[in-house]
Amino acid sequence: MKRELSGIGMTSQRTRARMIERLRAEGIRDERVLSAMAVVPRHIFVEEALASRAYEDMALPIGLKQTISQPFIVARMIELLAAGRELGKTLEIGAGCGYQAAVLAQLAKDVYAVERLAQLLDKARANLRHLRLPNVRLKHADGYLGLAEAAPFDTIILAAAAGHVPKALLGQLAVGGRMILPLGGAEQSLCLIERSARGYSETRLEPVRFVPLVAGVE
Ligand code: SAH
Repeated sequence: MKRELSGIGMTSQRTRARMIERLRAEGIRDERVLSAMAVVPRHIFVEEALASRAYEDMALPIGLKQTISQPFIVARMIELLAAGRELGKTLEIGAGCGYQAAVLAQLAKDVYAVERLAQLLDKARANLRHLRLPNVRLKHADGYLGLAEAAPFDTIILAAAAGHVPKALLGQLAVGGRMILPLGGAEQSLCLIERSARGYSETRLEPVRFVPLVAGVE
């Protein structure tokens, strides 16, 4: 069956609007971020059996033991990256099903999204094809290494938790750029890194729970 972009019932525009109101109530303030999330149909990124839960504030399985991040954390991370600036050229590590890349595409000039699992990347490709986003490029690559061919990036966002900040990513962050990642193992917290001409600064934020960043491609 063809996936309905517009959605009906629990996947309708109205359900999505309720998700936006919930994000607002939970403290997301940046209207650019809220608008971006309002236009991306999250239900086309999850299995059809789960589509009716796509607009609830929870992570959902996307296969291969991976999950699509919960809407609040997607909004929160992008809001932190976008505070007082444009996203510019953006690198996402861990494209998964492609949802976050679609949200980023509404706000960033260009989005490069890398994924280590070829099977998920195929899913992301198929999902994103429906939305026709000319500024998103997907790559099968190990995010630990970043994406040297397109560096430097104004913005880098990781959708999987690393035990340490990958060195290559620090090098590929533009001066004036910002990176956000879940940092840690069993206990993780969000970490915001800003690069200025003088060097890097790091801010630790709230605890989070992400799947781990894994080296190598499959
Ligand atoms: N942003 C995604 C969330 C996917 S979950 C979405 O919107 O659906 C995190 C993803 O990171 C998983 O798909 C996992 O395979 C991927 N990942 C883990 N380690 C990686 C690495 N080293 N390089 C690239 N992707 C990685």
